[in-house]
Amino acid sequence: MTDYYETLGISRSASQDEIKKAYRKNALKYHPDRNPGDAAAEKQFKKISEAYEVLSDEKKKQMYDQYGPEAFQAGGMGSAGGPHGGFSSMEEALRTFMHAFGGGGGGGGGDSIFDSFFGSDAEEGGARQGSSKKMNLTLTFEEAMQGVEKEVALTNYVCCGKCDGSGAASSSSIKKCSRCKGSGQVHQSRGFFSMTSVCPQCYGKGKMISDPCTDCRGEGRVKKKTPITIKVPPGVDTGMRLRMAGHGDAGEGGGPAGDLYVFISVEPHSLFQRDGDDILVDLPLSFPEAALGCKKELPTALGGTCRIGIPAETQSGKVLRVKGEGTPNVHGRGRGDLLVKVLVETPVNLNEKQKELLRQFAEMEREQNSPRKRSFFDKLKVFFSD
Ligand SMILES: [Zn+2]
Ligand SMILES: [Zn+2]
Repeated sequence: MTDYYETLGISRSASQDEIKKAYRKNALKYHPDRNPGDAAAEKQFKKISEAYEVLSDEKKKQMYDQYGPEAFQAGGMGSAGGPHGGFSSMEEALRTFMHAFGGGGGGGGGDSIFDSFFGSDAEEGGARQGSSKKMNLTLTFEEAMQGVEKEVALTNYVCCGKCDGSGAASSSSIKKCSRCKGSGQVHQSRGFFSMTSVCPQCYGKGKMISDPCTDCRGEGRVKKKTPITIKVPPGVDTGMRLRMAGHGDAGEGGGPAGDLYVFISVEPHSLFQRDGDDILVDLPLSFPEAALGCKKELPTALGGTCRIGIPAETQSGKVLRVKGEGTPNVHGRGRGDLLVKVLVETPVNLNEKQKELLRQFAEMEREQNSPRKRSFFDKLKVFFSD
């Protein structure tokens, strides 16, 4: 039996603030980006995200408190979905995660599209990983197909050049913290229990700076606008995410830098549609072209052209496959196909001569010219016979 409170490690009386805090702490620990290929962490991430999804919503929380997890099983309240009441997909869990971290939105230019993502909650001890950042990147259809390099300017915390990250004006102005004697932790005894906590004087750094660096005011990091090149591989699609390791904020106290997450969206194309690695295109044909067959030159999504033979007697709706003219697979596994959907157009704006020819054609028409029509009326006969 799943207990959402237990999953998040909180009491039943926890406030919304405490629920959020507990989720954020757990989510950072089990996030798939921090545990690549770890199935157990993935499962745990889904579990805590599901718990948070329910407990963070007052209405769902009430249902849960009253009826337990059964309230959210299949047939129950859809949004917590999944056949076993759990999150069926990582996407759902990640959406919850983004939500809890104030994600979404963005767009536009300048610095405003970057906001703090990971690392906003302090880790214990002096060394802290820098915040990871996210940004939205909109590409044209062609850029997504061919791959592109985009120059953007990131305003990140970088290691202060003046003090080399130490935060001190000179090495002699760094002193061992008097309270914790350099360990960054203090021990307190309460009865039988001994508690260890972060030193309140140096905040876990273990040292104090008497004369801080004037550039970074003792922080060891300064904000700096830095141009970077985002290399987008060919074949990306809306909803994909690129991770650029080390392009987030510089760490503190020797901690590693955060990462940059680039969320891709691709503008729609006037002719082509994506379906995974395949490209769909509609090809309107005149009635004689479809009946007699023809050859057509089509643009391909990669900017070239291809010739396609339409066989005689092709029906409207028929899909012809041109191998290898689709999207390059983003993981380098070959290319998709171009799927050409034939749409036969009934002729319009007919002149007298054309109408006359069609009437003549109709007079000459035989049953076997329209097998679908014949089979339809055969079925109708059965339908009306009783
Ligand atoms: Zn400095
Ligand atoms: Zn201290």
